[in-house]
Amino acid sequence: MRTHIKFGKILGIEIGIHYSWLIIAVLITLSLGGYFGQSHPEWGDGVIWAMAVGSAVMFFAAIVIHEMSHALVARAYDIPVKSITLFALGGVAQIEKDAETAKTEFWIGIVGPITSAVIGGLCLAAAYLLGWTFGADTSTPLMAVLVWLGYINIALAVFNMVPGFPMDGGRVMRAAIWAIVKDRERATKAASLIGQTIAFGFIIFGIIAFFRGSGIGGLWIAFIGWFLLTSARASYAQSEMTQAFAGLKVRDLMTTECARVDPRTNLQSLVDDNILKAGNRCFLVEENGELLGLVTPADVRSVERTMWPMKTVDDVMRPFEGLHTAAPEATIVEALETMGRADVNQLPVLENGRLVGMISRDRILNYLVARKELDM
Ligand SMILES: [Zn+2]
Repeated sequence: MRTHIKFGKILGIEIGIHYSWLIIAVLITLSLGGYFGQSHPEWGDGVIWAMAVGSAVMFFAAIVIHEMSHALVARAYDIPVKSITLFALGGVAQIEKDAETAKTEFWIGIVGPITSAVIGGLCLAAAYLLGWTFGADTSTPLMAVLVWLGYINIALAVFNMVPGFPMDGGRVMRAAIWAIVKDRERATKAASLIGQTIAFGFIIFGIIAFFRGSGIGGLWIAFIGWFLLTSARASYAQSEMTQAFAGLKVRDLMTTECARVDPRTNLQSLVDDNILKAGNRCFLVEENGELLGLVTPADVRSVERTMWPMKTVDDVMRPFEGLHTAAPEATIVEALETMGRADVNQLPVLENGRLVGMISRDRILNYLVARKELDM
């Protein structure tokens, strides 16, 4: 999940939002306005909308606290967490690597629903102290907001325990299977298959509910099912990939002979002579033996074709400093993760600050294709 808008850091963890979240934030605020307005029209528009906005803000704060709980437990087990991103369907904590034991995995997963349940319980308890009783109508705006927050957080806790990736329940289930079979990859596959089955259940249930007249609610359930299905498949593929690359380092697949170009080469001849004829996809830009940057077909594409003879490599290259890099001892999976995060197709490989090679998606893909051809 990419972060589009950054809010700042809490306890060293970056908090940000994905664009899809903005739509949901507006929808939730609007539907809250409608809901409070219908149950207590006598409070007036000003109060109703203040309640809607306030509840939405506190709801998102509660989601951040939920994700924060995952992040802090992960960190307590020495697993770094870089950021928390809110998106249309909730939040994700970017936990940088997999847990090493089933127990760690279990606690990282379960702490989220526990946190949401506690937040929900505290909100209902506060409403109770203000005079609300279970099942009764709310008599003040504050009470109404607390009751809504109470129920929604408890619903969040329950929903998150759905045993499918990437829900917390999926993690907890994987941890349980892992503890029994003592093999993380097998546990991931089993958990992913169960997750896919449940996701299909959501989709079918949602579609039936829709045709029986539940309207948007049914479609929403089907959509969540589709999301769960995609995620479960992705985690299955991820675990296959981890197995295929087991023990493989960047050093094993990197290319050490990199094509080099002069920064003053114009783009037209870079395309004609180097990219098309020589078939290279990535070039190191070098002048007097000094590395300046990297240029790829994607960078050339950013310039209009008619301008290629006029522009030179140093107009479009990506300067070396600030580039994402890989260490030769990093695993292939780590390198792929870095490429995914940085949205690039190759990484320079640096050892003690010195360039020793390049690792690219092409190379990694070729390795997989060769393995498949050899039926490995
Ligand atoms: Zn969670």
